[in-house]
Amino acid sequence: MSRAFLEIGRAALAKRPVEERLGDWREVERDLPAPELQAQASRCMDCGIPFCHAGCPLGNHVPDWNEALAAGRTEGAVERLHSTNNFPEITGRICPAPCEDACVLGLHGAPVTIRQVEKQLGDAALAQGLQAHPPRQESGRTVAIVGSGPAGLAAAQQLRRAGHAVTVFERHDRPGGLLRYGIPDFKLDRAVLDQRLDQLRAEGVVFRCGVSVGDDVTLDALRSDHDAVLLAVGAWHPRELPLPGRDLPGVHPALDYLVQANRRVAGLPVDDPIDVRGETVLVLGGGDTGADCLGTALRDGAARVLHWHYKPPPPTERGAEQPWPFPPALLRPSSSHEEGGERGWSVVAKAFVGDDRVKAIRCVDVSWEGGSMRELPETEREVLVDRVLLAVGFVGALARRRRRPRRRVGLRRRPRRREPGGDRDPRRAPGGPGDRREAHRPSPPGRPPRRTDPSCRALTT
Ligand SMILES: Cc1cc2nc3c(=O)[nH]c(=O)nc-3n(C[C@H](O)[C@H](O)[C@H](O)COP(=O)(O)OP(=O)(O)OC[C@H]3O[C@@H](n4cnc5c(N)ncnc54)[C@H](O)[C@@H]3O)c2cc1C
Ligand code: SF4
Repeated sequence: MSRAFLEIGRAALAKRPVEERLGDWREVERDLPAPELQAQASRCMDCGIPFCHAGCPLGNHVPDWNEALAAGRTEGAVERLHSTNNFPEITGRICPAPCEDACVLGLHGAPVTIRQVEKQLGDAALAQGLQAHPPRQESGRTVAIVGSGPAGLAAAQQLRRAGHAVTVFERHDRPGGLLRYGIPDFKLDRAVLDQRLDQLRAEGVVFRCGVSVGDDVTLDALRSDHDAVLLAVGAWHPRELPLPGRDLPGVHPALDYLVQANRRVAGLPVDDPIDVRGETVLVLGGGDTGADCLGTALRDGAARVLHWHYKPPPPTERGAEQPWPFPPALLRPSSSHEEGGERGWSVVAKAFVGDDRVKAIRCVDVSWEGGSMRELPETEREVLVDRVLLAVGFVGALARRRRRPRRRVGLRRRPRRREPGGDRDPRRAPGGPGDRREAHRPSPPGRPPRRTDPSCRALTT
């Protein structure tokens, strides 16, 4: 067991200066110099029961790659990392790192910088150039995947490497899902995503973008033309805030604004531009999406950005009610909060006010006791705003494409192989050799990871 953690503290996240990063869309986070990263990896204790495994939804073999990196075996570390994670260069940038919440070092001190190591190992693989790993043998089976977000892409890579002919259908004009049009470039450089997509294409994954399943082609048509259809459609349907004045111009679901902003940064055209330059922007909703609206509006030249949440701020440290190794609900300001904006807590919107467009928000301060909310007397007021972005969550998949015209899509017909005796493959029956449900269910925190199906282990960079 390494005892380096007794001598070496956890390195702070390296970021570009605020003034510099507000002037561009480049990534906020910086790399640690190689020797420092190696020292950080050496803090890992290689625990007998590595709780970080169970904290990670992928069951990443964290101590293995930490050990390899600490010993200077970067290539081995990269290989180990890719054995459980298709896209570590992406998770290393944006994952909230529940592994770090579960890290044993976190019991008494600061956890290992797992996400930073993951990111830089992922980037080391990109720098070498990602090799395509097409299957050695074709299975003769076809799979349609609906949706090209991280779920669809990871499934596409695994299924293709297992020998199936994979076609990914995507409603948007480019693949990536929220990695492409949700998360801002200052958190995730699109060049990273594009490099991975090139690898998937080189492995034989086919992308059909601008095809909305349900609008341009029916699910039944996909079903009849493929051996399997996998739905990885995400959750783009925004939760509504049905208050008086909701329909006023100037009140938008957050993703309408973020998708536009991401398109503008990519040099792509946008419909009905939402221009916040010089405006007072109110972002309602205190999560990741709200924080991304804040950072985007600041870069877009908003004069003032208010970021409100209807609950009080969570604690900054674990209390007895949030014991290790469970992921705690803590106040974790995002990089956007360092850049500006005014946070408001325990404030509830009551109406959007205006005639021809939103001019103000009527709101009230609240207190919370035992899970119930109470309005504080004499706190109701109107606050002048030019724009409101609703970042109050998502409720499910968007059933239909919005606003785009319907068009017909011709599917390339492939002969479909059926199992003798019907459609169902008996090998995939519960308990059969192909039953993968157990392998894919994450272990509860504190338990060693479940054994994963060996065919899913066949990952490589
Ligand atoms: C603004 C924002 C910031 C976020 N930041 C983070 C973060 O920092 N860290 C983090 O871990 N998570 C973050 N998330 C969450 C993360 O992006 C999602 O959990 C993740 O993208 C979900 O992946 P997915 O593949 O399931 O779906 P998505 O990424 O949503 O992809 C689904 C895809 O399916 C397509 N689709 C849907 N219906 C159809 C159809 N009928 N036909 C064809 N295509 C269809 C959609 O167009 C979309 O491209 C953020 C989310 C948002 C909105
Ligand atoms: S729990 Fe922390 S210290 Fe233990 S193996 Fe995982 S990363 Fe290393």
